[in-house]
Amino acid sequence: MAAALGDPVRHALESVLDDVRDRTDGAVADYIPELAKVDPDRLGAALASTHGIVHEAGDVEAEFTIQSVSKPFVFALAVDALGLAEVTKHVDLEPSGEPFNAISLDEASGRPRNPMINAGAIVMTSLMAGDTADAKFDAVRAGIERFAGRDLRVDEDVYSSEASTGDRNRALAYLTRSAGTLGSAVDVATLAYFRQCSISVNARDLAIMAATFATGGVNPVTRERVISEDAARWTTAVMTSCGMYDESGDWMVRVGLPAKSGVGGGIAAVQPGQFGIGTFSPRLDARGNSVRGVATLELLSQRHGLHMLQHHGAPLSPIASLTRDDADGGETVAVLRGEILFSEAEEVLTRLAPLVGDHGCLVLDFTAVTRVAAGSRKIFSALPETMGSLADGRPRVEVRDPDGVLAAPVG
Ligand code: GLN
Repeated sequence: MAAALGDPVRHALESVLDDVRDRTDGAVADYIPELAKVDPDRLGAALASTHGIVHEAGDVEAEFTIQSVSKPFVFALAVDALGLAEVTKHVDLEPSGEPFNAISLDEASGRPRNPMINAGAIVMTSLMAGDTADAKFDAVRAGIERFAGRDLRVDEDVYSSEASTGDRNRALAYLTRSAGTLGSAVDVATLAYFRQCSISVNARDLAIMAATFATGGVNPVTRERVISEDAARWTTAVMTSCGMYDESGDWMVRVGLPAKSGVGGGIAAVQPGQFGIGTFSPRLDARGNSVRGVATLELLSQRHGLHMLQHHGAPLSPIASLTRDDADGGETVAVLRGEILFSEAEEVLTRLAPLVGDHGCLVLDFTAVTRVAAGSRKIFSALPETMGSLADGRPRVEVRDPDGVLAAPVG
């Protein structure tokens, strides 16, 4: 669903684009000759919320090749299908601090440093289902289309251009093959990888794809579960440490959003639990990251406090009220509210524990609680049993949970 015209989030995006539009430093990638033909002045950004609302600004329909922005999505498909233990036999998960096309293999294990650089990404493509380049690419494309929520085409010109000049990537594939970490023949992996990089997307697609990680693996627009929650979390973690190549550390300090860039000019960024952002601007900095894309995300993050480690101040107490009723042999009622994650559970249990049995029964009322984190549920639901009963046979603790938030399934 696209947001309405008078949309303040769209205005926030537009205002940031206006502030970065004048930056013409950097250069479009030309090591893949076809990429040099792109219009360098294009600039677009979109934000997709986990509710499935998409806010768009600038050249949001302009198509470009996904390039390395495909890497986290293919890694996600691989860990979703094969599990982390199997995938990490083929690739390490450490930041390389090196450029995207570095010869970055662990000497002992032969594993590429991480799946966000070319060596690791080619290995991930080689792990896709199928024996031929076409079959592997079909698996990649079908997966990426589910992240984007629409059919995507391949830019055949960019594909041919990269396939005819991609010897460095072939060399990386040969090295991983000889080290025993590539999951297919070299040609199968590299041709599927070149096609993967040539998938045509726009900034809106990248926003929805990133938002699918933000929801824990469900495309917020189509509502389809694309990957498991575990796969979404693992992938977002790798984007956090490795997504911006040798700029990853600096990026985390300045912007603080797990992200992935590509030499086509795209960046996909994730705010877990909240939204995904896609940006497009073709001129790149020396590290191969879009100059205005980086500037857009940096400004957005600073202006609107989007850093994932932003301190938001002391949270609201989960104990809305505490009342003592002397009738009925004494009862203390604690009305709880909002989201009970670990620290809220800690507050409730620590503050209320001394009251148990002190004045009759302690009633924990969960009626106004919207959610209890999976890890805290057990402690609460076990309370009445572990606390035992009062002299008159009533439990020391009574849980009122009419909506069953303590029993809600995980997720
Ligand atoms: N297809 C490009 C390559 O392998 C992708 C690189 C990138 O986007 N950083 O060289």
